[in-house]
Amino acid sequence: MKQLTRKDFDHLMFPTYVPMDMLIKKAHGCYVWDTEGKRYLDFTAGIAVLCLGHTPDGVLKIIKKQSAKLLHCSNIFANESTLGLAAKLLPHTAFERVFFVNSGTEANEAALKLARRTAFDDYGAQKDEIIAFSHSFHGRTFFSVCVAGQDQYSDGFGPKPGAITHIPFNDLETFKKTISDKTCAVILEPVQGEGGIIPADPEFLKGVRKLCDEHHALLIFDEVQTGIGRCGTFFCYEQTPVVPDILTAAKGLGSGLPIGAVLTSEKIAAHFSPGTHGSTFGGNPLACAVGQYVVDTLTKPAFLQDVRDKGEFLRAELKKLAQETRSITEVRGRGLLIGAELDDAYKAKASEIQKLCFKHGLLILLAGHDVLRFAPALNISKDQLLQGLVILKQVLNEIKQ
Ligand SMILES: *Cc1c(COP(=O)(O)O)cnc(C)c1O
Repeated sequence: MKQLTRKDFDHLMFPTYVPMDMLIKKAHGCYVWDTEGKRYLDFTAGIAVLCLGHTPDGVLKIIKKQSAKLLHCSNIFANESTLGLAAKLLPHTAFERVFFVNSGTEANEAALKLARRTAFDDYGAQKDEIIAFSHSFHGRTFFSVCVAGQDQYSDGFGPKPGAITHIPFNDLETFKKTISDKTCAVILEPVQGEGGIIPADPEFLKGVRKLCDEHHALLIFDEVQTGIGRCGTFFCYEQTPVVPDILTAAKGLGSGLPIGAVLTSEKIAAHFSPGTHGSTFGGNPLACAVGQYVVDTLTKPAFLQDVRDKGEFLRAELKKLAQETRSITEVRGRGLLIGAELDDAYKAKASEIQKLCFKHGLLILLAGHDVLRFAPALNISKDQLLQGLVILKQVLNEIKQ
C-alpha cells in the first residue's frame, strides 16, 4: 500500500472531523510521534481517555494475557473478567450494581432509559420529564444528544424525543421553578467538560439533590469525563456534597480500550429486568481486564494524591502565565481537568492558539468557544507539565505580536 498522508482522510472518511495536519504513527507515555518523525508532548490524552498515558506497559501485559484467554463472549454467558471488574469497581463507589457498555454515549443512553423506566414502573407514564442543562454534553446518540440540548448538534435529524427541558447550569432558582412531580430525571456533569470546564456550585448541587428527593426524580451524574481519577478523586461526586442515584463512566476506564459503565443502587437496577436492555459488546472481557488494572492502579491512595498535587501545580503555573501574558482571565477545574478562559482580545483566536501549539510540538484541547482545556495523562510528570507551559507561553506571546 502507498504511504498514506493526512490528505487521504478527506477522500476516505466521513467529514465529521477535521484532524490536525499530520498522521500519528505511534505514541508512548505522554509523547506522540507523527509519520514524519516529529514528536509532540500530549496534554490531551485522547480527550481524557488515556489516564495512564499512551501504551502503558502494565496495560500491554494485561492485553496480551487476556487476549490469549478470552476476547469476547456473549452476555448469554458470564465470565471472570467482566465480573472481576464489577467486583473491583463497585466497592470504590457508593453504588451496588453496574451495567457495562462501550462508550460514554451508550452509558448515558442506558442511564436515561433506566430513569424513565423506573419512573414508569413506580409512578406511571406521565412521569417522563428529563431536566438537563445548557452547555452540557452527554454524547451523540439521538436521545443523548437531544438531552444535552445544544441545538446545533441535534437539529436536522427529524422529530426529537420529547419531555426534555433545558435550563441554565448553576441556577437553583430556575431549577426550583422547573422541577415538578412530572420530572423523572435530572442529568448533569459535576464539571461541565465540553461546555468549558465549568464546575457545579456545591450549593446548587445540594439544592438539586433536595428537590430531586422531594419530587422523586433520579439524579444522574454524567462522569464520563470527570470520573476515573480525572478530577483527583476516583469519581468527582466524592468532592461534592451529594451522591447521585445513577452515575455514568467511560473515557478513562479502559485506558484506551472502549468501555463504559452505568452504576446505581440494587433497587434502581432492578427496573432493568431481563430483556429490557442489552449490548453485544458491553462488558467485553478484554476491556474489562484492562479496566481492572485501571481500578487497581488509580485507587492506590498515593496515585490520586499525586493527581491532586499536579492539578494544583498546573493551575498555579497557568495563573502565573495568565498574569505574565494577560491573555487568560480565569483558570478553573478539578484535578487534571483544567480550563483556561481566554481574555476577550484572544477569544476568537482559540483554534489559532491550538494550531500554533501543535506546530511547536504541544497537543492541547479546547472547550466551549474560548477555553484552553488541559487533560493530560494522570501519570504525567511535573517536568512534562512545565515543558508544555514553556511552549504555551511562547505561543501566547507569538499570538500577541
Ligand atoms: C465524551 C463524553 C461523552 C460521550 O462519550 P463517548 O464515549 O464519546 O460516547 C458523554 N458525556 C461526557 C461528559 C463526555 O465528556
